[in-house]
Amino acid sequence: MSKALVCPCEDVTVEDVEHAFARGFTDMESIKRYTGFGTGICQGKSCMGAVARLIHQSKARPPAGIAPFTPRTPLFPTELSVLATAPFDVQKAPVGSTPREVHLGALALRSELPLPARAKVVIIGGGIMGLALAWNLVLRGETDVVVLEKGYLLAGASGRNGGGVRMQWGTPSMIALAKRSIELMKSFARDMGINIWLRQGGYLFLATSKEVAHRLEANQKLHNAHGVPTEILTADGAREIVPELTCKNVVAAAWNPEDGVIFPWPFLWGYAQAATRRGVRVETFTDVTGFEISGGQIRKVKTDRGDIACETVVLAAGAWSPEVAAKAGIRLPNEPHRHEICSTEPLKPFLGPLVSVLDSGLYFSQSMRGEIVGGMGDPKEPAGLNLGSTLRFLSRYARALTEQLPILGRVKVLRQWAGCYDVTPDNSPILGRTPGLPNLLQMSGFVGHGFMMAPAVAERMAAWMTEADNTDELFTRFNLQRFAEGRLERENMIIG
Ligand SMILES: Cc1cc2nc3c(=O)[nH]c(=O)nc-3n(C[C@H](O)[C@H](O)[C@H](O)COP(=O)(O)OP(=O)(O)OC[C@H]3O[C@@H](n4cnc5c(N)ncnc54)[C@H](O)[C@@H]3O)c2cc1C
Repeated sequence: MSKALVCPCEDVTVEDVEHAFARGFTDMESIKRYTGFGTGICQGKSCMGAVARLIHQSKARPPAGIAPFTPRTPLFPTELSVLATAPFDVQKAPVGSTPREVHLGALALRSELPLPARAKVVIIGGGIMGLALAWNLVLRGETDVVVLEKGYLLAGASGRNGGGVRMQWGTPSMIALAKRSIELMKSFARDMGINIWLRQGGYLFLATSKEVAHRLEANQKLHNAHGVPTEILTADGAREIVPELTCKNVVAAAWNPEDGVIFPWPFLWGYAQAATRRGVRVETFTDVTGFEISGGQIRKVKTDRGDIACETVVLAAGAWSPEVAAKAGIRLPNEPHRHEICSTEPLKPFLGPLVSVLDSGLYFSQSMRGEIVGGMGDPKEPAGLNLGSTLRFLSRYARALTEQLPILGRVKVLRQWAGCYDVTPDNSPILGRTPGLPNLLQMSGFVGHGFMMAPAVAERMAAWMTEADNTDELFTRFNLQRFAEGRLERENMIIG
């Protein structure tokens, strides 16, 4: 077998790239994610040209559609201990809107095939919510479904998250959804034919204040009552799980060994591939630009590739949902908030759980490839659809991380990126019908935890949509109407 290498860092061959083409991934961002090229120590500097040439040779894209992937900072691999010395002003809001996301809204990447003129269900947003729903509709016999995605698959938060999946929540509804989701994740490889690298290494929450410690203790009782085996530990107990932790200022910890992490990208591909195999159209690089509304119903979804007449529209556009809803005259209370995240060079496996200091919003885990992947919310971050990266984040994160795990000081950060949390006033999702526009269904507002909720939410939503007598309380408890009624469903286990 020939082994013509394209990306020596990640051992990606010409055949791997051709395999990506065969799977329909012909834009640079998607090929990068599908093969892993450009994610190693050279950050794509030595391999992007070769991939561009392969796209050109294969005629998979016209020359105008061969754009580089978005360059990622830091410009060269940099040690965490060095990043921790970078100065920043704690009082000032973060700035930074570079790099510009090259492939979002790229016209040259659109399919030349026409969109279907009509579909029973149009789902706006090809993130985990939209795709998991499409698949669950298929399971219930509904295949006349079109998913519209303005970028590449994984362009939204679903391609930019930490992959954490946990049952440690502050409300019975979220605990039940997370438990069911993790159950579905366990059989995902068998059911969907793709490995999502689920590793149940646990979640270790650290509290550095009494207030957060009390919250962890109260939630532990709730967890145990719902069959989640969370334990409260001392700092010494936490160090028994991760001996390398300093546990500086830690007053208590919460530990559930059944939580874990998955690798986000195959999770999304699994749903997309299974749904398209059964007839669902997943249309990438297709921007929803408006709606045709008459008689209190959406009649058509308008896009930059034409209109689609439909019976039902599902709004699953994540942090972009308020922007899309506004095109139908609907005001959503969600606000997008940038969350930055980064990944280091790979290390030998040593870190079992995902660790989070709930007070500061620091979280980190070790991926199956060995990288330390983590982030930290910034209280000064203003609302806005900002996907840029900052040195301020790297500095804050490096300080907080090396304070708890000093052995990582010499480890280099390879890539940083950002996504948007889709934040609602009560940190709970918006699900169900839209007052005044009943055939517009809401499926957004999943803050920083939609990834792990998607399998269970989509399963229940597909049942609710297709069964005439289904009155699932999820779709009244979390409906849009609750904000007008002052009926908030507050969730208190938000990281960051
Ligand atoms: C840094 C970070 C870390 C996170 N960590 C975790 C974690 O560990 N665990 C977890 O469960 N969750 C995590 N999350 C949250 C999680 O990623 C999201 O809740 C989840 O991915 C939301 O999925 P979605 O389908 O609603 O939105 P998205 O994945 O954002 O998908 C929405 C899609 O809609 C598309 N769209 C927008 N406007 C239009 C339009 N006009 N026309 C067509 N398409 C449009 C967008 O391009 C996007 O792809 C994290 C998020 C971030 C940012």
